[in-house]
Amino acid sequence: MNICVVGTGYVGLVTGAVFADLGNDVVCVDNDRAKIESLRAGRMPIYEPGLEEMVTHNTEDGRLAFTTDLDSSVRQSDVIFIAVGTPAKDSGETDLSQVEAVASAIGRAMDRYKVVVNKSTVPVGTGELVRDVITRHQPMPIDFDVVSNPEFLREGSAIEDTLRPDRIVIGAPTQQVAMTLVELYAPLERPMIITDLPSAEVIKYASNAFLAAKISFINAIANICEAAGADVSQVMKGVGLDSRIGLAFLQPGLGYGGSCFPKDVDSLIHTAAQLGYDFKLLKSVAEINRERAAHLVDMMEKALGPLDDKTVAVLGLAFKPNTDDMREAKSLEAIRLLHAAGARIRAYDPVAMGNARPLVPGDVAFSPSAYEAADGADAIALLTEWNEFKFLNLERLRRLLRRPLIFDGRNLYEPERMRRLGFEYHSIGRKPVVPV
Ligand code: NAD
Repeated sequence: MNICVVGTGYVGLVTGAVFADLGNDVVCVDNDRAKIESLRAGRMPIYEPGLEEMVTHNTEDGRLAFTTDLDSSVRQSDVIFIAVGTPAKDSGETDLSQVEAVASAIGRAMDRYKVVVNKSTVPVGTGELVRDVITRHQPMPIDFDVVSNPEFLREGSAIEDTLRPDRIVIGAPTQQVAMTLVELYAPLERPMIITDLPSAEVIKYASNAFLAAKISFINAIANICEAAGADVSQVMKGVGLDSRIGLAFLQPGLGYGGSCFPKDVDSLIHTAAQLGYDFKLLKSVAEINRERAAHLVDMMEKALGPLDDKTVAVLGLAFKPNTDDMREAKSLEAIRLLHAAGARIRAYDPVAMGNARPLVPGDVAFSPSAYEAADGADAIALLTEWNEFKFLNLERLRRLLRRPLIFDGRNLYEPERMRRLGFEYHSIGRKPVVPV
C-alpha cells in the first residue's frame, strides 16, 4: 500500500518505520526541514530503542522516504495518516491548529479518493472537523473518508508497542472503509476493535485518563501509607495481584508527566465540561498529580532542613526512563521548587541532558555521570527510574556524598538494602531509613 504519514515525531516516525517494515511504501512528511534533513542523513531526531536500525534498513531498501513536500506525498498515497502534535492550550482545551493546517493542505493536494486517518490524539468530534476542513479546501469535490486510529505506543518501547499493540482501534464511517486499515494492520495479527469515529476518539482519552487515575490513586494511597507507617510497595502488590485490578500503573512516585497523560487528562476534563458534564473524578486525578513534586521537596526540607546552603544531585531528568523526552517532565517542576528553596543543583541523565538544557529553570550544573553529580553533594534526589541508576555502585556513591542521603522519587531501591549500605533513605509511601 502507498502510505503517507504527516508529522514525523514520536508517533509518525515510528508508525512510518513499522508500516515500511511490513512491506508498504511509506513517505514521512514534516514541515521541520532540519528534522527531515537529519533523517535523510540517517540521524534520528529522537532516542527510541530499535528505531535507527529499522529506519536505516527500510530507507536502504527503498520503502521509506522523508520529505517536506506534503502535496506530492499526498498525491502518491492511498492512505494518509495525520500524526502531528495536539498540545494543550492554557485552558486545558486541545490546540487543533496543527491538525487543521494538515487537513487543509491535504484538501488542497487531493487528486483522487483517499483514506485520511487521524492518529493524533484528538477530542471527540475532530474526525468531523477534519472532514469539514478537507472538503472546504478541495479545489473540486473529490470523494474521501476520514478514519480515527488512535495510537497507544509508549515512548521508550515505541517500536515494540507498535509491532505488538494490545489492540488496534479503528473508528470508520463504514465497514468497507475500515477494511483498508484492517488490511494494513493484518500482518501484526493483533486484536482489532472496529467501531464508529466518535467511539474511537473517546477510547483513546478514556484509556489515558484511566491509567492516569491508577497512578494518582496509588499516590494518594502512598500518602496514607506515609502517615500511617504502612508500606505502599506491599499494599501495591496486595492490591495489584487482584486480577480485576492488575499491577500495571500502580507504581507510586512523582506522578505522571510526558506529552500525553497531563494534556489528555486536561483535554477530557475540558471536553466533558463542554458536553455539560463536570468530571470531578478526573479533576482530582490531575490535582493529586500536581502535588507530587512539592511532596518530594517537602520531604527533603523536613529531613535536610533549609535547602539554601545545600547542593542536591538530581539523578534523572527525562519524564520516564528510556526516552530523551522532557515534555512535562516532573524533574522540571522539582528543580523549580528546589531552586525556589535556594538549593544548588547538579544534574545527570543518561540521554535527556541535551533536551533538558534549554528547559531547566534557573542554574543547573550538568554532570557527565551520576558519580560526578553526587561528588560532595548534600543529597541525591532520584527523579527518573533509569536502569543505569539501579545498577550504580552504591558504596561508591555513598563515599562521594557529603551526607549519605537519598530521596528516591521513584522507589527504585529496597529500603533494607539501603539500610545495610549505611544510607539515610527516603522514598514514597514507605518508612524512611534513618541511621540510628
Ligand atoms: P511530536 O511533537 O513528536 O511530533 C509532531 C510532528 O508533527 C513534529 O515533528 C512537527 O514538526 C510535525 N508537524 C507539525 N505541524 C506540521 C505540518 N503542518 N506539516 C507537517 N508536519 C507537521 O508529537 P508526537 O509525540 O509524535 O505526538 C503526535 C500525536 O500523537 C499527538 O496527538 C499525541 O498526543 C499523540 N500520541 C503521542 C504519543 C507519544 O508517546 N508521544 C503516544 C500516543 C499518542
